[in-house]
Amino acid sequence: MNGHFAAVGNGPTAQVYEHGIQVIDEEKQFNTNLNDYMIETHVAEAGFNYHLISVFGSQSTGKSTLLNHLFGTEFSVMAESERRQTTKGIWLSKNKREGAKGGDTSMAENILVMDVEGTDGRERGEDQDFERKSALFALATSEVLIVNIWEHQVGLYQGANMGLLKTVFEVNLQLFLKDKQSQTRSLLFFVIRDHIGNTPLANLRNTLIQDLNKIWSSISKPAGLDNSKIDDYFDFAFAALPHKVLQPDKFLAEVEKLGTRFTAGHRSAKDQEFVGGVFLPEYHRRIPADGLSMYTEGVWDQIVNNKDLDLPTQQELLAQFRCDEISREVLIGFDDIILPLEESQAEATRLGRASVLPDLGATGARAREKCIKAFETQASRYHKGVYALKRTELESKIDTRLKTLYQTQLSAAHKSGVAAFSDAVTNAVKAGQKAGGTYEFAEIVDKQKRKTLEFFKKEAQSLSIPGVAWSNFKPQYRLFERELDEVSARLRKEEMRRLAIRVERWVRSRLGDAIGLEFNKLGSGRGGTGAPETGDKPETEKDLWDRIWAVFSGIVAEAEDRFTDRAKSFEASVGEVEVGLWRLRRKSWVALREKIDEEVMESNILMKLRENFEDKFRYDEEGVPRIWRPTDDIEGAYTRARESTLTLIPLLSRFRLAETYAPPDLLAFIGPQPAGAETEDEEDLAPIGGVDEEEGKSLEEEMTVLSESKRQDLVVRFKKMADGVYVEAKRSAIGGMTQ
Ligand code: GDP
Ligand code: MG
Repeated sequence: MNGHFAAVGNGPTAQVYEHGIQVIDEEKQFNTNLNDYMIETHVAEAGFNYHLISVFGSQSTGKSTLLNHLFGTEFSVMAESERRQTTKGIWLSKNKREGAKGGDTSMAENILVMDVEGTDGRERGEDQDFERKSALFALATSEVLIVNIWEHQVGLYQGANMGLLKTVFEVNLQLFLKDKQSQTRSLLFFVIRDHIGNTPLANLRNTLIQDLNKIWSSISKPAGLDNSKIDDYFDFAFAALPHKVLQPDKFLAEVEKLGTRFTAGHRSAKDQEFVGGVFLPEYHRRIPADGLSMYTEGVWDQIVNNKDLDLPTQQELLAQFRCDEISREVLIGFDDIILPLEESQAEATRLGRASVLPDLGATGARAREKCIKAFETQASRYHKGVYALKRTELESKIDTRLKTLYQTQLSAAHKSGVAAFSDAVTNAVKAGQKAGGTYEFAEIVDKQKRKTLEFFKKEAQSLSIPGVAWSNFKPQYRLFERELDEVSARLRKEEMRRLAIRVERWVRSRLGDAIGLEFNKLGSGRGGTGAPETGDKPETEKDLWDRIWAVFSGIVAEAEDRFTDRAKSFEASVGEVEVGLWRLRRKSWVALREKIDEEVMESNILMKLRENFEDKFRYDEEGVPRIWRPTDDIEGAYTRARESTLTLIPLLSRFRLAETYAPPDLLAFIGPQPAGAETEDEEDLAPIGGVDEEEGKSLEEEMTVLSESKRQDLVVRFKKMADGVYVEAKRSAIGGMTQ
């Protein structure tokens, strides 16, 4: 099988590409494996560091032979015996002499050579169409066009080569019509074959230049380019080679010399003469190597379909396609890093957990940087405008993902930060309570707040990308700080509650002792203060309520001081303290009422009345127990004592101060409800008559210790009990006499 055709449609192996690759076949089909070839030969990765050369000329003028000698390529050449066209379509091969052993290492890197089917149409009939199309294709892509010509053809203005050059000039103008901005020039490198040597190269050159100018003036130029000169678009170079068969050694030596010209060159600043090799920067088409196959395919597609070839548009299309491709490629690397993180977040969200991913900021920034850098390296070689646009697109794709990732991260940090703060404060308080209650709530809150804010700030800062506005998370930080303040306020309120409960317990316990003591004094009919005055209530009985109120007020005042001191220590607001005190006074009053109710429970109060009565009845003024004799006025003593004790019942029935004969001003004592108290949970506050008017209970009712019926009942029971004592006394007096 003919090795040339094996390349088409086959896999990219070195063996297959031995002869290079047929870019355009004889059916004018473009070979889509070109990029494989570019990759295979490592040109694809070269960026702009490659060169493209095309060779033109009549059939069987030794073009392929020349290229094979110059570049070590293996384009097929016609066997001496059969005069038949061999090169079909357009073949491309990489220079194989570069760096090869014995090769000319001074050649430029990555030279790609296109061997174009001969152009005299001898074997393709009248197919001038292909000539035109291949010329257009070569001009759109190549830096250097080698024009291969026999020495004896020079000066034959009517020759086939002249037709070809005419075509080249015409299609070139056609290209420039669409691409006026372009500074691109081409080098027409004339290689004169079978140079006998009689006519010096300089003369041949002059003849050729004259012919070229003639051709140039003969072509019809499109409007706007009427006055254009050939030098506006082309540079010329010339070389002559001896006859390959007649002077094989000289031929080889000259080819070797010619090879050394395929290196980088530039124009001298002084006289614009070439310095160095033939590859001037201005010849380069600036198509990145990894986009070359796509570009040439697009160009060929336009050419073959007879569309106006518009290179700038082709370059833009290429840029769009390649930038998208590169973008997808670099996003794979981004995904490798970011997808697992996104999945981990999604999983945490699904489980309702606040998961703060470690090192997210550094990882994200690295992935972002790497991705954009990779894009920049490859894509920035393409059309600048398209590149800039696609870069913005890529950045926004990346940033959308990072933004979501970061915001989820921060809300997790927020959630776990708040929980950690709340836990830390609660635990510190518990530890403080265990250690005997010597903890400073405000200090605990301060310390934990600072710690938690620091944690959040660190996280937010680690997520911030310099120069990227969306990654400034200050608002989230402020939001977090606000929430910590809210949590602090809630915790302080709880602490206030705990404090209130402690103080209330203290009040209850103090009241238990102190009020119990006052009621116990009732048991002694002569009281604890002034001397007993028969028939009159002792001071201790008359001012019972005054003393209770005084004791109560004292305890509450002390409790208020304690509460205020403590609340201030943890920076409770004035309003919060006010509410706390208001609640404390109410609760204290309720506690007092409960204590009083306990004291006047039937069994308790009856016992106290009995003690009071017996104290008055059984002891004389000096406090000496009486021994009743029949002559004694037992009945009188009994009646006095009983009446005296009975006066206690109305006294006990109402909470009434002796001086004003009115209940204490409870409303003034408790004070108006402070503003902050509305929001308080007031379910634990029992209504107080005369204070909470809407509760339907009056101050009178609040101050009623014994109801009317209870009072009467108490009177009856007391009298019965007193009667019993009297009877016993009587009996003992009589008994004492009979003994
Ligand atoms: P192409 O069709 O232009 O690619 O020509 P080929 O390279 O296939 O060669 C065509 C014929 O010309 C072959 O038989 C070669 O041996 C012969 N040939 C190659 N180089 C030279 C040369 O420098 N001088 C002469 N006279 N013949 C050559
Ligand atoms: Mg050939």
